[in-house]
Amino acid sequence: MTARKSRICLSLTASTLEANLRLLDSRRSFVDMVELRADFLDSSELSSLKRFPRTAALPVILAVRRQRDGGHWGLGERERRQLLRVSLSGGYDYVDLEEDLEDPDLARKVKRAGGRVIRSLHDFSTVPDQLAERCRRLPHGPGEIPRMAVMPQSTKDLPILAEAYRQLEGEEKILIGMGEHGLFSRILAAKLGCFLTYCSASGAEAAAPGHLDPRTLVELYRFRMQDQETFLCAVIGKPIAHSRSPEFHNRGYQALGLNGVYIPVLVDQVPSFFRLAELLGMKGFSVTMPHKQSVMAHLSERDTTLEGIGACNTVVRRPRGGWFGTNTDVRGFLAPLEKQAPELLETGSRATVIGAGGGARSVVYALRSRGIRPLIVNRTAEKAKALAEFFGCDWGGIDAEGVARIGENADLIVQATSVGMEPEPEADPVPGYRFSGLEVVYDLVYQPLMTVFRRRAQDAGCRTVSGLDMLFAQGAAQFKYFTGVEYPREALDPDR
Ligand code: NAP
Repeated sequence: MTARKSRICLSLTASTLEANLRLLDSRRSFVDMVELRADFLDSSELSSLKRFPRTAALPVILAVRRQRDGGHWGLGERERRQLLRVSLSGGYDYVDLEEDLEDPDLARKVKRAGGRVIRSLHDFSTVPDQLAERCRRLPHGPGEIPRMAVMPQSTKDLPILAEAYRQLEGEEKILIGMGEHGLFSRILAAKLGCFLTYCSASGAEAAAPGHLDPRTLVELYRFRMQDQETFLCAVIGKPIAHSRSPEFHNRGYQALGLNGVYIPVLVDQVPSFFRLAELLGMKGFSVTMPHKQSVMAHLSERDTTLEGIGACNTVVRRPRGGWFGTNTDVRGFLAPLEKQAPELLETGSRATVIGAGGGARSVVYALRSRGIRPLIVNRTAEKAKALAEFFGCDWGGIDAEGVARIGENADLIVQATSVGMEPEPEADPVPGYRFSGLEVVYDLVYQPLMTVFRRRAQDAGCRTVSGLDMLFAQGAAQFKYFTGVEYPREALDPDR
């Protein structure tokens, strides 16, 4: 079954109608309709509302959002309804009226003027139970489109939302999870059968928490080709907004003409995410910090190397149910070194790994598989000790003694902590270490591309390897697991 067409609706939040038109023109090729948020307008603009639909030349929703619904309307309720009434003759295609607004005459007038009522309810505190049932009860009469915007507070709330999409399959609705936790509902509106998805132009004030720019929906998340058959993959982590994986995988789908989409999901509760993945029929997902170890308890099958590595970064759904876990970080880590410094991958090379988390585990495993016993140093020395004991290596803390020992194990230095990553790009994991210029320095952090640590190494004359090369190598291996085909090299961003 093919989903009904879903629309991209740009919310217009400028203070004048003219500025809203400019905003619309800057995104016109990416949107199907607009929502004029009259509550953002200067009061001097309100008398001109009638003229807007004609000049917009796209279907328009008129919304005058009250403050309790997250809006800016500062005048009284009587004035608000009066404004809605007098503006109707302008030819608005849709008018947003609240679920608790008892004004049948206004709803009738909308219909008589040729428009449809969107009957809306906002909940900024939670995702209520029995969501589908509540959504169905919203319309006050035939032809009204129910619209519910709820606020998931954690991953725990997401299965409730996904369950509601299942129950409402084939029914006309707008059901939105707001904020970063609800992002999947905005990106997947077409796959989930929603009437529309709202978005805001970046640089303008976002009309609600979690709005994306329409260009991002179209170009990154391939909104226009999505339908119910679109397969879904994801990357999970916390934080997750920085991840380049969606760009990498979606470019690959695009280049091969695959009907798939790959999304980021902020996850703070791994078991709830597995439930969500089942409900959305996810094909597989990438795992990033801090979940590479905790996902392992939920696997029904695993790669033989996984136990040895102790960290899983790739999870694939099995055709008959259950989840298979593997790790592509190991080969992703080795591939750039094999190209750029193959002489180091020999027994006898002296190496240091800074960090003892999921990424570091894969790095140490990879080095041990080449006969190299790296020194492991970490802020929390006990974690370095545990990892070192697991792999038979030396260990230390990141103190004066640890820093001195790095110098004795410095043919290759691998930076595998999250230090220096956005949003704190100025941080340095070992500010006390002075590079001799002879080290090869590999920083797993790729956002920013040039970390402070790698810059210092480069300035001292070291050869350096970028975390982005590893990301792409491990991502290409994941791509094959998720899709069954090789990653198309032509999809790689030439500017990366
Ligand atoms: P993780 O499991 O959460 O481990 C985080 C590591 O960073 C731990 O060693 C932790 O030390 C250390 N750390 C965090 N904050 C610190 C601070 N303020 N000072 C000193 N050390 C600190 O994360 P992960 O999965 O290993 O990922 C680590 C980094 O590698 C991330 O930036 C991730 O994006 C990157 N990575 C990149 C790739 C790639 O393909 N390029 C692959 C894997 C990972 P404690 O033990 O003391 O907390």
